[in-house]
Amino acid sequence: MKAMAAVLYAPKKIRLEEIQLPEPGPNDVVLELKKAALCPTDIKKYNADKPDVESALRDIGSYVLGHEAAGVVIQVGSEVTAVKPGDAVAVQPMIACGHCAYCKQGKTNMCLNLLGIGASAGSFTDCVKYYHETGVGGCYATHLKAPESCVIPLPEGLSMEAASLVEPLGDVIHSVDAAGTGKNDTVVIIGMGPMGLMHVPAARYNGAEDIICVDIDDTRLEMAKKLGAKVIINSAKEDPVARVKELTEGLGASKVFVTSGGRAQLPCTQQALKMAAKQGTVSLFASAALDADQLCVSMNFIHYNMLNLTGTVGFGRQHGEKALKMLASGILDHQIIRNREFPLSQIEEAISLYGKGENLKIGLDLTQV
Ligand SMILES: [Zn+2]
Ligand SMILES: [Zn+2]
Repeated sequence: MKAMAAVLYAPKKIRLEEIQLPEPGPNDVVLELKKAALCPTDIKKYNADKPDVESALRDIGSYVLGHEAAGVVIQVGSEVTAVKPGDAVAVQPMIACGHCAYCKQGKTNMCLNLLGIGASAGSFTDCVKYYHETGVGGCYATHLKAPESCVIPLPEGLSMEAASLVEPLGDVIHSVDAAGTGKNDTVVIIGMGPMGLMHVPAARYNGAEDIICVDIDDTRLEMAKKLGAKVIINSAKEDPVARVKELTEGLGASKVFVTSGGRAQLPCTQQALKMAAKQGTVSLFASAALDADQLCVSMNFIHYNMLNLTGTVGFGRQHGEKALKMLASGILDHQIIRNREFPLSQIEEAISLYGKGENLKIGLDLTQV
C-alpha cells in the first residue's frame, strides 16, 4: 500500500500526497493507521492562530497534523518489545523525554521537554523540526512512525473508531481522576462540547451518579442526558448557581469541572466557584482565550470554604489505558461523540465543518484516500 498524507505547506494549504513509508528506528514502531479524529487544536494550527505556525512551515518545512488515531502495527524496531506486527493499537501522542525530573516521577505529561505526535504538545516549531529530523509527524496519513511509548494495545474487540478517541478521553479521565471523583460526589460539568460531554460517562465510570450538566444549548444538553446526566441546566434560561444550590439542599457540588474555554471560561469559572460545596474542587479543563480577562477571586472565599481550585492538561499512559478499558466497557457510546466521518481525501471539508451545527468530533477514515 502506498503511504499517503495530508501535508500542511502553509496556513490553510493542505495537499494529499504520496510520502515515503517511514523506517522505524530501534525504539520505534510503524503503524498502518485506520481511523482518526479531528481536534480543535489542529483546526487552530491549520488556521495559523499561533504566531509560529506560518514561520515554522516557511522556514523549516511542511508538516502533517493529527494526533487522535488508531491503527495496526506493521513494523517494529530492533529494541521494541511491547508490541509486534499485527497488533491493534491506539496512539498516545505525547512524546516525553524520559529523563527530566517529571519523567523520572512517571509524570510524563508534565515532561519539561515534551513534544507531541501531530504537534499536540510542545511548540509547533519544535515539532516541525522533530518531524524533519526523525520522520515522526502526525496522523492525517495512512502511516505513522512513532516511538514505542506512543502506542497502547487495544482491548480485544474494540473498534478503531472508538479507539481513535483515546487522546481526548484520556485527557478527560485525567481531569476526573485528578479531582478524585467517585461514588459519593455531586458532579457539575459546565460546557457541553465533546470534552464536557465525555466528562459525564467518565464520572459515571468512577461511580458518580449525581451528575449535573450546564450549557446554553438544549441539543447539547439532551446529548448529556443520553450519556447519563441526571439533571441538565440551560444557563441562558435559569441561574445555574441557584439551581445547583437548590438541588444540593444549599450545600453545592463537591466536584465542578469547567470545560468551556475561550471567552466563556471566565464567567463559567466564576459560576463554578459559587456553586462548589465547602472543601469542593473546581477544576479548569479548557484553556481560556489568550487575551481573556483574568480571574479575580476573594482569598477569604477560598480560605473559609476550603476550596481546591485546580486544573489539568494532557494525560499519562495510565489514563490512556483506562480510556480504552472504558470504551470497551460500552459506558460511552462513542458514536454520540464521534458523530461524523469523512475519508482522508476530504480532510479540508472535514476541517471546514468542525464545530458547526450538530457536528461534535469529526472522524477521518484513513483507509479511504
Ligand atoms: Zn486532541
Ligand atoms: Zn521529560
